[in-house]
Amino acid sequence: MSIRGIALERIKILFGRAELEFELHPELSHRYVELARKISMKVNVPIPREFKRRSCKRCKHYLVPGRNCRVRVSNRVRYTCLDCGHVMRFEKPK
Ligand SMILES: [Zn+2]
Repeated sequence: MSIRGIALERIKILFGRAELEFELHPELSHRYVELARKISMKVNVPIPREFKRRSCKRCKHYLVPGRNCRVRVSNRVRYTCLDCGHVMRFEKPK
């Protein structure tokens, strides 16, 4: 497997762990997301689409809709991070 393939695997694992830990240790989840971002930048592998909206662009926290993030859908999808108030907009999935 290539370096980028390994990096992608690690990013997926980190986001998976972030999800598992969020209930009891949200600070660990935030840490995992930070690590995933670092790997992504270092190896120049983009964070997969399904995970991209699971972390806040500003405070880098792991986001869980209904917990620390509010999701509003109109003609676009808006994610509001409740930890820092940052709003992210995404195209609606087709
Ligand atoms: Zn935030």
